[in-house]
Amino acid sequence: MSVLQELVTAIRTGSVEVVDLTAPLSSETPILKLPPPFSDTITFGLEEISRYDERGPAWYWNNIHTGEHTGTHLDAPVHWVTAKDGEDVSQIAPLKLVAPAAVIDVSDRVATDPDFLLEIDDVRAWESQHGPLPTGGWLLVRTGWDARSDDQAGFLNANETGPHTPGISVECAKWLAEEAPVVGVGVETVGTDAGQAFGFDPAFPCHSYVLGAGKYGLTQLQNLATLPPTGAVVIAAPLPIVGGSGSPARVLALVER
Ligand code: MN
Repeated sequence: MSVLQELVTAIRTGSVEVVDLTAPLSSETPILKLPPPFSDTITFGLEEISRYDERGPAWYWNNIHTGEHTGTHLDAPVHWVTAKDGEDVSQIAPLKLVAPAAVIDVSDRVATDPDFLLEIDDVRAWESQHGPLPTGGWLLVRTGWDARSDDQAGFLNANETGPHTPGISVECAKWLAEEAPVVGVGVETVGTDAGQAFGFDPAFPCHSYVLGAGKYGLTQLQNLATLPPTGAVVIAAPLPIVGGSGSPARVLALVER
């Protein structure tokens, strides 16, 4: 049997599960909020064109209103000033969008510290247990933050000192960008950087280094808890928006059961 026939059979019989890592898209989907004077993205919205009525008697359809960085989405390199001449989202080679995943679970530490930052040593400790990070694969950071995804306030977790959400340290972001063999980093939060990363040096280090190195970000993932530390295959499918800095994406994982 061919590899693909075997895969389809495995999916049909349940020995390979297809896990949806995508947040549902609606006007309730949490979105990033920047402090003034910066401009914000819009919430997702549907604008009805017709619904089996005089505007279109046999059909229902909508226009959609969305930012590129709304809900579960992919950050393309050109999103950041460190990759001004880098790829836009339409230019990403499809083969890079089907890739193995390393899943690191730090949810127990995030539970007691919402400002938790992933360090190189955490990844090294993971590697000593599970082997090296996969070449061309994703590092997916499981924080438990997806449990808050129905609640904009809880998801952003902001107070007078700004948002408090987990992320990646400056040193670890630089290492993932420049030394680790990964194609990108995936997170459960609204962006790949910590809530407090506006005050880091450089600001927003994951965006700055990882996108600057021509790698990618995946945000607002769900259900990472159901993935094994190694062995899952991620299919990330952003829209090929010409010139786009990113796109909402359907992100699926294939997991052997
Ligand atoms: Mn983004």
